[in-house]
Amino acid sequence: MAVATENTPRSSEVHWLDRERKRRLIAAVAERIVAHVDELTALDAAIGDGDHGYNMKRGFEAVLQDLDSLSAMSLPDLLKAVGMKLVAKVGGASGPLYGTLFLALGKELPAEPSRGQVAIAFEAAIVAVRARGKSDAGQKTMLDVLIPAQRAFGAGDDAADLKKAALAAAEATAPMRATRGRASFLGERSIGHVDPGARSSSLMIAALCDEFGEG
Ligand code: ADP
Ligand code: MG
Repeated sequence: MAVATENTPRSSEVHWLDRERKRRLIAAVAERIVAHVDELTALDAAIGDGDHGYNMKRGFEAVLQDLDSLSAMSLPDLLKAVGMKLVAKVGGASGPLYGTLFLALGKELPAEPSRGQVAIAFEAAIVAVRARGKSDAGQKTMLDVLIPAQRAFGAGDDAADLKKAALAAAEATAPMRATRGRASFLGERSIGHVDPGARSSSLMIAALCDEFGEG
């Protein structure tokens, strides 16, 4: 997530979230997803219908195609544009849910948010995803990564710790029994596999953390 610290330059000439930075952040998230298409597909083949990798790849390749115009937008506008792209291109259950996440972030965030504003917007975006999915923590979905990641971020975790928390949260979906989404049709047989949407959420957060960790 985008973070401003006390030391971040704030003069009218220097913007911490300039065009190049936005470009790198969008590219980092999109390329991380595209690089993991086979893994996400295999996870979804185990407890779903095997399309999550391709769904996400289609969406984020469309994002990469528009990298120039997206990075020229303000943060709220680019988040909304990414959200609309994901709704249009990803499909499945995850497309509208990730679309909702990005659209809500775009609605909540100012152009140059403070860390506190990011934490609040992330929380509001999770409320929107929960409402869209009629879902909550503990049901073996993307929310089982998004919710603990938001908590870790809100509690002040640095990029390295937040990345660890998100990756561990995705792993922690393996022993859960799915009660939402396609995997819930499997009942007990959903136990023992990492949820694909939880894994894709953890990959996006890890990519952002790597980008911010490098300063
Ligand atoms: P589909 O299940 O329609 O094939 P995808 O395979 O692209 O869609 O996405 C599956 C992922 O979507 C799941 O792994 C889960 O994380 C997430 N998901 C599905 N339904 C919900 C829901 N109601 N709330 C939150 N996340 C959900
Ligand atoms: Mg699927």
